[in-house]
This record gives sequence, C-alpha cells and structure tokens, in this order.
Amino acid sequence: MTQTITVIRGDGIGPEIMDATLFVLDKLGTGLSYEFADAGLAALEKHGELIPASTLESIKKNKVALKSPLTTPVGGGFSSINVALRRQFDLYANVRPAISFPNTKSRYENVDLITVRENTEGAYLSEGQEVSADGETAFSGTRITRKGSERIVRYAFELARSTGRKKVTAVHKANIIKSTSGLFLNVAREVAAKYPEIEFQEMIVDNACMQLVMRPEQFDVIVTTNLFGDIISDLCAGLVGGLGLAPGANIGESAAIFEAVHGTAPDIAGKGIANPCALLLGAAQMLDHVGQPQNAERLRKAIVATMEAKDSLTGDLGGTGGTMDFARAIASRL
Ligand code: ATP
Repeated sequence: MTQTITVIRGDGIGPEIMDATLFVLDKLGTGLSYEFADAGLAALEKHGELIPASTLESIKKNKVALKSPLTTPVGGGFSSINVALRRQFDLYANVRPAISFPNTKSRYENVDLITVRENTEGAYLSEGQEVSADGETAFSGTRITRKGSERIVRYAFELARSTGRKKVTAVHKANIIKSTSGLFLNVAREVAAKYPEIEFQEMIVDNACMQLVMRPEQFDVIVTTNLFGDIISDLCAGLVGGLGLAPGANIGESAAIFEAVHGTAPDIAGKGIANPCALLLGAAQMLDHVGQPQNAERLRKAIVATMEAKDSLTGDLGGTGGTMDFARAIASRL
C-alpha cells in the first residue's frame, strides 16, 4: 500500500526548498504520495488561520509530515506555530543529527553525533512566567517529570541501539539544579541500566559545551532536557557548518514532523538561491522513520558526493548554483 505523507510547503524560502526536496525524493523512487496542507502565512492568506483544522487532520491521519519553515506573524495568537504543532501532537523527541560534510566552513571533519532534546517540558513551559508589577522581578518555572524524562532517555537509547551507535551522554546540571535536573539524571541512570550494551556517560552542561567545541568526536548520542538541548543542538549545527545543513525531527507516539532547522530566510526568498540540504536531510530522517533506511542512506551519500565534487553548491556553501541546480546535481548522484 502506498504511504501518504503530509507536505507543508511553508513560507519564505519554504516552497523553493520543498520543490527541490520533492524533486530529489521522486528521483529516489520512494513510492510515497503527498498530501499538501497549509500552515503559517500561506494558510493565513488562504484559510484565515495559521494552522487550519484540515492541516491538523492531515497530520493526524498520515502520522508523518515533511514541513518547510513557517512564518509566525507577531500578534498572531501563537508564540510559534512550530511549538504549537509540537504541543498538539505531543512530539516529545527533537532529534537533530550533526554530521561533518566535505567542503564546508566547519572546524572539524569527524563530527557524527545526534542530539535528542526533550521537547515538551523543562524550562520552556509557557505557564508560570511572570514579571512583577514594578518590573523589578521576573519568575519562570521549570517542570520535569519522571514520565517525560523516561520516555526521552529511552528514545535516545533505542535510537542508539537501532542505528548501531555505542554511547549515550546525558547532559544535565544536577550538581546545582538538584530538583529538576537531578530528577532527569536519576531517571537517565535507571533507564541506562536497562541497556548494558550501550555505554552511558553523564556530563554537566557547561563541561559538555567545552568538550563539544574541543573534542566533538567523543560524542555519539546526547540526550538532554529542553533548554540545554535547544542550545546544544545549535552549537552542534555550528560545528558542522551552520544551519543550511541542519535537519531536525520532532517525534511522538502518534505523529512525526521532519523539517529544516533554519527559518524562512526572508532576505533570500523568491530568488531561487536557498540551500535545500537541511530539508533534504530532514527528508532522509523521515525515510529512516518510514522504514526506508536504504533510500535514506542513498540520499545522504548523494549529498556528500555532490558537496565533495563542489557541484552546483549554493552561495552559503561558497558556490554559485541555484536551489534547483543543487537538487539536480544531488539527484544525478543517487
Ligand atoms: P525566521 O524569522 O523565519 O527565523 P531568519 O531570517 O530570522 O528567519 P533564518 O531563516 O534561519 O532566520 O536565516 C538566518 C540567515 O541564514 C539568513 O541570512 C538566511 O538568508 C540564511 N539562511 C537560512 N536558511 C538558509 C538556506 N537554506 N540557504 C541559504 N541561506 C540560508
């Protein structure tokens, strides 16, 4: 039976990089069929709302979505559409690989790690934030639960097991934030004990940042809470050449959304010069997720080979190619 995925073309450079990505996926012969749905500014213009019910229905039904960046208008009733989608489907695992690619401005050639960030709790709760009437004091709560910690750490170990990775590092600040970070670390230790074949390492977040910059090759899978994960995953994207090569997956029990980490890049939108690689790499994560790991690997190898050959690279990678030139160069190497 043909599997259908929801495709959200997005705003800014979104439609351009999505067209390029679907072009490559079609050449790959994934057999997936696409149900197009709107979100963001495009949806506001067409349907009068940022996330139409039909889009939520489509994701709910298909369980897998490939999504381009979205614009969240200021005062649109959402602090972020992406966050709203993650909440709606309880997409608790934010999975961001950082892998060295040839011919980038990256400082290292041997980075190959995945950050697994808890996406639904921690310091990013919208409730409980307050500023006193005199503007002198602000307060923000952090909530960590056993259930939330258990499922994210288990996800990290299962990912390590299924991809043949050898080590999981839990990043925390339990020495100072003994309540919340302490609970996360305790649960991480309990879960780790169930995976004796995978090495478990604990690392305090400040040390982890230094180690990532000095010796990133020591990391394999990193698992951490929401705020630390947000910061660390961008640090890792920087280690391997920036946001143009950084994909991300948001995964829950009932749905998964795959995307590029970068935004809508309004400064270059409509010019046909955006780098489609981050979304293509997000599509590779999606192929792994839908049980097509060979196609995912073919796609990643074609991207690497194209970068190695410096064939039609886009401007952010030092080339002069357009979005579709780059996509065609990748497709020719599948
Ligand atoms: P948003 O408000 O949607 O987050 P932004 O411009 O603040 O948009 P990004 O979209 O992430 O943030 O862009 C940051 C910078 O990186 C911009 O200069 C943009 O042109 C560049 N950039 C982002 N994505 C790409 C891409 N895929 N290819 C080339 N350049 C990109």
